[in-house]
Amino acid sequence: MHTDEMIERLRAGERRALARAITLVESTRADHRQQAQKLLDGVMADTGRAIRLGLSGAPGVGKSTFIEALGTHVTGLGHKVAVLAVDPSSARSGGSILGDKTRMEELSRDPNAFIRPSPAGTTLGGVARRTREAMLLVEAAGFDVVLIETVGVGQSETAVADMVDMFVLLQSPGGGDDLQGIKRGIMELADLIVVNKADGALEQPAKLARSQLVSALHLMRPRSPNWKPHVLLTSALSNKGIDEVWDAVTNYQSIMLDTGELTANRAEQARAWMWNEIREGLIEAFKAEPDVAARVRKLEADVAEGRMTPGAAADMLLKRFQHGAE
Ligand code: GDP
Repeated sequence: MHTDEMIERLRAGERRALARAITLVESTRADHRQQAQKLLDGVMADTGRAIRLGLSGAPGVGKSTFIEALGTHVTGLGHKVAVLAVDPSSARSGGSILGDKTRMEELSRDPNAFIRPSPAGTTLGGVARRTREAMLLVEAAGFDVVLIETVGVGQSETAVADMVDMFVLLQSPGGGDDLQGIKRGIMELADLIVVNKADGALEQPAKLARSQLVSALHLMRPRSPNWKPHVLLTSALSNKGIDEVWDAVTNYQSIMLDTGELTANRAEQARAWMWNEIREGLIEAFKAEPDVAARVRKLEADVAEGRMTPGAAADMLLKRFQHGAE
């Protein structure tokens, strides 16, 4: 399909064109990258109108059940929901935590929902880059709610928080000291914390977890001067509390829009993204430079075995790179 045709079909909301466009931005082939860039330029004016939500939580906390419930609630209100994922584990282990096809069965049949598993990637940076681009594509195709899911591994939460308007952390009430498993740094990213599985025997522990989280949040500096992180209870399994979550999202969105903070955050995210692209591009070019490539292993070994300081080795390689580029 020609790029112009793809742009047109994408704008018309054609799912097949959308799926193909995402496959294109996920490709690492140089000619595909070029075509993807052209495609993204072509749809830029149609992007940015969605509310961008990040969702994180440990495996088993109920993320797919929750997304199914929230997604169905939101399409019921007339919205179009796209679910994307950032799962760097697929690169490391070969298997993926989020990629399971049987997840979100009901939502995947909903004509107003679009679910795309995480791109496989070698680095978190690579996965994040392609997810950002996929986000622009689903926006151009008319999806006005974008939900980006990630698991609580390493840096993936920060990567997702850096590409969304609102970051939601899903917690479960089980297992003794509820705050133990949740890292302070992750809690500081959260605009909303949802304690899921607040049903049956877990209802009381969920309430206890909520009050612990509320007190812990009091001790933290909020990310925004205009919004204090909320803690809500849900039972995704029985659809309880899902409407309150959506109310909190729309409330957050209107406050952030009115204060100009949402626009300012996105501007900052776009700037940071540009610098990321520059960093990645420079490193790729650096590694591809023949003079550098010929010496890098030897110098790495010298540094590892203490024959040379890291600074001196880096200097030497950077000089080679500069000469090569001239
Ligand atoms: P994920 O790994 O975070 O995506 O979690 P899943 O959505 O796959 O859920 C893990 C397990 O928790 C499944 O057995 C779900 O049925 C269960 N679960 C999810 N939400 C709830 C809930 O609100 N209440 C209860 N009791 N169980 C839930």
